[in-house]
Amino acid sequence: MRVEDILRHKGTDVATISPNATVMEAVEKMREIGAGALVVSTDTQPIAGIVSERDVVRAIAASGDSSLRAPVETIMTGSVVTCQPGDLITDIMTAMTENRFRHMPVEDGGRLAGIISIGDAVKNRLDELENEATNLRAYIATA
Ligand code: AMP
Repeated sequence: MRVEDILRHKGTDVATISPNATVMEAVEKMREIGAGALVVSTDTQPIAGIVSERDVVRAIAASGDSSLRAPVETIMTGSVVTCQPGDLITDIMTAMTENRFRHMPVEDGGRLAGIISIGDAVKNRLDELENEATNLRAYIATA
């Protein structure tokens, strides 16, 4: 299975936020849409960074609730690891495990083309294993 197979069902919409928005605005947006991370975008740079719940927790632990009034760009991760529509889901899971993050924006020809969360990847892998088991059981029953 590849990234594009997940996007076909999930869709390519990605929740984004401006680097100048406040951390509080990012928190509100994450709650509103039920996401754990937002891609930080500008008109000229569709993937300028990524901000996740973990960045907010770190900022509050370091500087208290005044960090909620700071711009998103002060707490975001600027060097974003992205994937391509043709990448294998197993490779995405390995990259997320090795880099210790749970979100990967999809980049296609310089465009933001979707986002894969660890939940999407695990669900896809479980479905795949379930299908394999069903096929093997059917094969054994008819052999
Ligand atoms: P997460 O596990 O996705 O909540 O993110 C954990 C940390 O990794 C946070 O500091 C995020 O800003 C950062 N992060 C999340 N996704 C990525 C990514 N694809 N590339 C680089 N850093 C990321």
